[in-house]
Amino acid sequence: MTAVDRVHPDRVRALRAGDVGTGPVVCWLRRDQRVRDNWALLYAQDLALASAQPLAVAFCLVPEFLGATRRTFAFMLAGLRQVARDLQALGIPFLLVRGDPGREIPRLVARAGAGCLVTDFNPLRPSRAWEDAVAARVRVPVRQVDAHNVVPAWRASGKEEYAARTIRPKLQRLLPTFLGEFPRLRRHPYPWPADPPPADWSLAAPAAGPAIAWCDPGEAAARAALARFLSTRIAAYDTARNDPTVAGQSDLSPYLHFGQLAPQRVALDAARSPADAGRDAFLEELIVRRELADNFCHYNHDYDRFEGLPAWGRRTLEDHADDPREHVYDVGELAAAATHDPLWNAAQTELVARGKMHGYLRMYWAKKILEWTRDPGEALDAAIALNDRYSLDGRDPSGYAGCAWSIGGLHDRPWSERPVFGKIRFMNLAGCRRKFRVDRYVERMARLGDPEVSA
Ligand SMILES: Cc1cc2nc3c(=O)[nH]c(=O)nc-3n(C[C@H](O)[C@H](O)[C@H](O)COP(=O)(O)OP(=O)(O)OC[C@H]3O[C@@H](n4cnc5c(N)ncnc54)[C@H](O)[C@@H]3O)c2cc1C
Repeated sequence: MTAVDRVHPDRVRALRAGDVGTGPVVCWLRRDQRVRDNWALLYAQDLALASAQPLAVAFCLVPEFLGATRRTFAFMLAGLRQVARDLQALGIPFLLVRGDPGREIPRLVARAGAGCLVTDFNPLRPSRAWEDAVAARVRVPVRQVDAHNVVPAWRASGKEEYAARTIRPKLQRLLPTFLGEFPRLRRHPYPWPADPPPADWSLAAPAAGPAIAWCDPGEAAARAALARFLSTRIAAYDTARNDPTVAGQSDLSPYLHFGQLAPQRVALDAARSPADAGRDAFLEELIVRRELADNFCHYNHDYDRFEGLPAWGRRTLEDHADDPREHVYDVGELAAAATHDPLWNAAQTELVARGKMHGYLRMYWAKKILEWTRDPGEALDAAIALNDRYSLDGRDPSGYAGCAWSIGGLHDRPWSERPVFGKIRFMNLAGCRRKFRVDRYVERMARLGDPEVSA
């Protein structure tokens, strides 16, 4: 087994073909912002070891990303500072550059005289555009490693899948191949030729919502949160996760979104829990639902647009586009939690105040936006804008898939027809009351205070 065999070859694909040249290896991290359990970093180290070359990690900080606000950037930067410290201890410099990745990464590659560029995988359009720009400008091979999905997105399926039921057997067949223990990143024996320039960690993104206090950023906190969930809550997950008045979910999504925790680490550790309905339900969400969302964004480039919804969903919504709406709100009123519905307002308050809305309520929240906006395209835009702006885990394939599921029937089936929704699955307050103590949730969110809200 050569060094490069540590990473399964199907996890890697070429964005720019060619043989690895002489010179250091640069690993450009984007979505998977961690040192441990990172297939992209392991692969980059293997290349560097095989050619006896230094290795550096680069990150390009952009001034704006899909509406992310100051607290979101602060969470990410705190995690990246830990990454920089942990890498330094392993003899790997962390190079923070700022600006347009399509220009800054090629410059960095040229300055370093690199022999190869390795990057991770993110199916979202801005990330693809950066990859294309970088691959067009550099003169060295560019290799991409899916370090986020347990089964690499391009290997799980070659097409956009219809539903969980169509991707599940494909993933299950491939899990024995890909769900293995991670090797450790080693101390890198070939030093970087010069001291890296000091990083500029300042941030200027606009603020919205109070700072996040309940979720500490970074790899160490992520692993501690995982351990807490596995030791106390996973057994009851299948029932408790749908009750917003109890702590039934894992709360891992901010860590998974920023790659501070590998989904594969979560899956490996969860798989060691006693086999029960809680564990099975959790693994279904973590692997099947999450990787289905990546599949959607990987193969459907209109993942955040009305045109990206399934044909039956678009048709039925268009058939009902002129139905009268009992209430109509604009995005400002929605952001301010100023609707007639106390449950919806409470969910929006949770989103703004905590930067994370309970998973069950996300469905209700998005479906009511469909009911209360002038047309379904506007509803999808509003749900995505609010989710991306206020949610720590927003700007993520699971968010685009979640909004498209709630509003446009993605990965779902037609239900009985009704006004505005057409054949899209309906949810109402009475259904929520049957599931959990709505009044208790509303009271709790009222106590979260009066968060500063700005659209
Ligand atoms: C309208 C709407 C918007 C959503 N926006 C986002 C978003 O921006 N970012 C995000 O990560 N998830 C989003 N989801 C999916 C899901 O609600 C969240 O992943 C989950 O609530 C996160 O909390 P948790 O980590 O405590 O989840 P847990 O219930 O503990 O689940 C563990 C992990 O499994 C994955 N997962 C769980 N449910 C889903 C799902 N339905 N689809 C895909 N993956 C899932 C997530 O990675 C999650 O962190 C959205 C769902 C809807 C309906």
